[in-house]
Amino acid sequence: MHDLIILGGGPSGLTATIYALRKRLDVLLITRDLGGKTNYRLQLPFVDHHLVITGEEVVSRFAQEIDYLEFSRVFDKAERVEKAGEGYRVHTRAGAVHECRALVVASGARARLLNVPGEKEYMMRGLCYSAISYAPLFVERQTAVIGDGALALRATAELARIASKVTLVAPTHGELDSAMGRRVLAAGNVSVLEGYTVERVNGDDYARSLVLAYAGKKRELTADAFFVELDLVPQSELVAEIVDRDERGRVKVDCANRTSAAGVFAAGDVTDVFAEQVLIAIGEGAKASLAAYEYLLTQ
Ligand SMILES: Cc1cc2nc3c(=O)[nH]c(=O)nc-3n(C[C@H](O)[C@H](O)[C@H](O)COP(=O)(O)OP(=O)(O)OC[C@H]3O[C@@H](n4cnc5c(N)ncnc54)[C@H](O)[C@@H]3O)c2cc1C
Repeated sequence: MHDLIILGGGPSGLTATIYALRKRLDVLLITRDLGGKTNYRLQLPFVDHHLVITGEEVVSRFAQEIDYLEFSRVFDKAERVEKAGEGYRVHTRAGAVHECRALVVASGARARLLNVPGEKEYMMRGLCYSAISYAPLFVERQTAVIGDGALALRATAELARIASKVTLVAPTHGELDSAMGRRVLAAGNVSVLEGYTVERVNGDDYARSLVLAYAGKKRELTADAFFVELDLVPQSELVAEIVDRDERGRVKVDCANRTSAAGVFAAGDVTDVFAEQVLIAIGEGAKASLAAYEYLLTQ
């Protein structure tokens, strides 16, 4: 029986694990990888990265430490979590069963993909999935955003402040009538292609254009970069039976990362905490681990 199990080895889970190790807890990190989404790094032909401190660099220091401390982690997929007495039991794809007194859920959220030809080739090579992270790089550039929900409209509004031109490719009317949608429609440098869908991504070393379809007709849209801003899907299914989630499936947490279940904490993109960013996930992971430690002290 471990003191603490941490599910997910992205920025939040790695930080939570490091904190638990410092507190000399018997901790086990169960994860498919070390680093989570920081393993994606956007490459653009016009951006020089050499003076930028990336999330990946910060997180990789934690990942190296945990990789070295083999006893503290197992590479596996958690498939089911259940209550077991006062604690919890985690079943994994490899067939292992791990038990713990407390749990930190740090399984992140995945960006919804376009699933069209060319997407895999150009993912993070001119095809971006996080305007909140990268929009500031596009000063006086031509950009395009794909999506029609709140995420896409927010990305368009942010890019419109920085880029010379933003084209929003909105497959449906979506949330264009919202306050953010009205703002986007009113911006002088934004044009909206409503009803268009993306058929493929074309490029050379980087994505250079999208082939769009509308009412049986095709057209090509060129830009310096393309932001796929569909939903973020929280990977919270494995604790769906145990903790309360919001309407988007994010695990609800309080200011000390406690969920609705005693002994279960959550951190990072899987939660309903504002903004999906590496530094936020790191802070939330630290908080969740400290809160779990406090909980264990009282048991
Ligand atoms: C393309 C892209 C680029 C980004 N760039 C930046 C940036 O430049 N700067 C920035 O601040 N933010 C950036 N972000 C956002 C940032 O990556 C996230 O906010 C951050 O990684 C969230 O950390 P996390 O630990 O909550 O989740 P994640 O990083 O998503 O990590 C989740 C972890 O859980 C594991 N996991 C999930 N389910 C299971 C399971 N069932 N069993 C075992 N393991 C599981 C995953 O393998 C992974 O290790 C970017 C996001 C994307 C999508």
